[in-house]
Amino acid sequence: MLPWLEVPLKDLMARYEAERLPHALLFIGPAGAGKAELGKALAHRLLCEQGTACGTCKGCLLLEAGSHPDLKKVELEEDAQQIKVEQVRDLIVWVNQTAQMSGAKISIIAPAHKMNRNSANALLKVMEEPPARNFLILISDEPAMLLPTIRSRAQRLNLTMPGETEAKQWLEAKVDGDKDWSTLLSLSHGSPLLARQRADDDYLQRRQLLASVWHDLFVKQGDVVSLVAGLAKIDLTEALELAMEMFADVARLQATNDKNAINNKDIASFIEPVSDVLGKRQVLYCLNLLQQDYRLAKGTQNPNPTLLLESLLIACSAPGAAQPDSVFNL
Ligand SMILES: [Zn+2]
Repeated sequence: MLPWLEVPLKDLMARYEAERLPHALLFIGPAGAGKAELGKALAHRLLCEQGTACGTCKGCLLLEAGSHPDLKKVELEEDAQQIKVEQVRDLIVWVNQTAQMSGAKISIIAPAHKMNRNSANALLKVMEEPPARNFLILISDEPAMLLPTIRSRAQRLNLTMPGETEAKQWLEAKVDGDKDWSTLLSLSHGSPLLARQRADDDYLQRRQLLASVWHDLFVKQGDVVSLVAGLAKIDLTEALELAMEMFADVARLQATNDKNAINNKDIASFIEPVSDVLGKRQVLYCLNLLQQDYRLAKGTQNPNPTLLLESLLIACSAPGAAQPDSVFNL
């Protein structure tokens, strides 16, 4: 159990025991806050015959084997960008069947904002008249993308990150070897889960590569198609997140003229030259385009990463990309 989830879990269990746990819960909070882990832990407590996630009862053993009949997860199918209406219809049929193990029935939808409009509308019906002892857990780091009618029918729980000391203690206990946890935590918005994952893969190298693309575009007038082709396998969300952070640093550096204002210190050597060659309006213009593309990437459409990045780089670097007042009234 993640230590920073103990308090919210205890609170949820207290409400369950008092028969005041809402039928629909919406766990929100930034990526890596532990929303899915909390959903799993709550399901485990509710489906354990002792109510403790004892690990030995039939409910716990079935959960451990991934075959508990009263737990259903609705997730993105492989390569899909949307949770389809058929998946939600299956869920509704399942919800209306009697529990097999005499306890509660739990459904978890993650990421809930990936439901398309039809899926969300189908879900509304079951949210309006939930069968007794049925609990629906919606998980989302983009709750604004959910239908307002879904949001208003679920009780929100906003998870926050642990403090840095607690996060480091957890990471040091979990991961062998010396890592620069301060840097990894700061690059992961304080999330120990993301920091641990990023310590294991080549995240820091990918950041250098992504930052170099923007640097070469503006400083060396690099060719857009070759620059994007150099990114090999692109995680579009990660690429856009990095770019937004980089441009935010460029804007901060331009506003303060102080290198200490740079948050993403590991890519500072790319940020400083970009700041020297871009005008302030162009930086804001690019940030605006990046935010639009980021919403597109996080939504239920399925943009082609290569095409999207090529268009973005072309738009950001086009002559006159940020004519006075073309986007902002500064
Ligand atoms: Zn148990």
